[in-house]
Amino acid sequence: MAEFNNVFLLIGVAVLYFTALAALLRARRRIGLGAFFCALGVMHFLETYLASTIYVPLPFGVVTSPGSTVLFTGKLMMLLLLYIREDATVVRQPIYGLLFGNVLLFAFAFVMRHHTLVPLTSERAADFGFLDEMGALMVWGTAILFFDCILIILLCERSRAWLGHNIWARLTLGGVVVLSFDQLAFFSGLHMLTGAGWPVLLGGWIAKMGAVAVYSVLAAVYLKYFEWSFTRLGEARISDVFDTLTYRERYEDLLARTGCDALTGALDRHSLESYGRRAVDAAAAAGRPLALLLIDIDHFKAFNDRFGHAAGDKMLKRITGEIMGAARLSDFTYRFGGEEFVVIADGLAGKDATALGESIRRAIAAAPAGDAQWKVTASIGVACCAKDASGYDKLFEIADKRLYEAKAAGRNKVIGERTPSETPFRLVKS
Ligand code: GH3
Ligand code: MG
Ligand code: MG
Repeated sequence: MAEFNNVFLLIGVAVLYFTALAALLRARRRIGLGAFFCALGVMHFLETYLASTIYVPLPFGVVTSPGSTVLFTGKLMMLLLLYIREDATVVRQPIYGLLFGNVLLFAFAFVMRHHTLVPLTSERAADFGFLDEMGALMVWGTAILFFDCILIILLCERSRAWLGHNIWARLTLGGVVVLSFDQLAFFSGLHMLTGAGWPVLLGGWIAKMGAVAVYSVLAAVYLKYFEWSFTRLGEARISDVFDTLTYRERYEDLLARTGCDALTGALDRHSLESYGRRAVDAAAAAGRPLALLLIDIDHFKAFNDRFGHAAGDKMLKRITGEIMGAARLSDFTYRFGGEEFVVIADGLAGKDATALGESIRRAIAAAPAGDAQWKVTASIGVACCAKDASGYDKLFEIADKRLYEAKAAGRNKVIGERTPSETPFRLVKS
């Protein structure tokens, strides 16, 4: 009975840990990532302490530590979520921070070891056992975490090819493989430092697999229901005592947004002329494929006439979100003019480029338009480097011509590269 009680307690702590840290992660645009990183760091310390001092029995003779089961697995999942929503440059910050902090802790423990001590009270002597074990264990655990993180991110990326958009399956697969590796590596350190026995290895592994099952469901739910509507712009800031101290942050935010279109948050036309042009030229010089997609919203003037300009602006923001959501993370979305957008997709050409256009077309057509009777659609012209042209101007001209053909063919169409058998042009039907 006590064993089952332990299982429920572990699940309870896992849910609490995930909820608290996911809430801090979700609030990152309002309060910054520092709060999330600090909470993660404190939990990291507690995790190693628990892993070296507290073990609990579970059913079927399994023995585990809440530190390595709930807190370590949770930390890895939180870092993976951070990577999924941000990128590698963000996720390396807490990893390097933890690693550096742990090495520092190790150094401090070494220095403190040279103090002359007095007993705390007459019954309680000073105890170095904790510091002796913790320092080394933390450095070891964090070094493994470094590899764990790279491995789980790579697995999550690679498994996209086999598991597609099933994020739950990808999180579970990554968790199972990486935590199995981790359990072996961490246990060998634990065994050498604390003399932990084999039941701890197996027990820890079984418990970590259980933790993966719980966390992957929580993480998939979080990504589906709490991150889907994420936009960089337009989120309210919390107002607190620090609000008046954030002029520097606002100034840097303004600088960061230079080059972005104020209404939609897409890159602006000036950026297209500099970065976009450079990207095309670089791909052409390297002989790499690249696609330029020119997107024009259909009958947008009529939309404005019917719903008003303010609703039109809101729709443009939503459409930008749909375009960015349908494009790959590595693609760049520019607002070229009023309701015209350019997507530059490095590495794509031919059918793949047309397929990207098709995904964007479908995403826009599926977006709610504020009126059940009205459907907002877009026409898209796709041109590829170096098949169609190798220079930016020529590429743009071809995309523009194909966009015009898409309009003439009835709108809500994508027209890309023509194959010789297709006359007069290749159409992807709606
Ligand atoms: P089509 O492209 O299908 O030929 O028809 P259209 O009505 O979209 O025609 P066109 O592309 O020539 O017109 C663009 C319209 O987009 C004109 C203007 O009313 C609207 N528009 C352009 N920029 C903005 C903007 O920033 N906000 C709003 N609300 N509307 C804009
Ligand atoms: Mg237009
Ligand atoms: Mg238009």
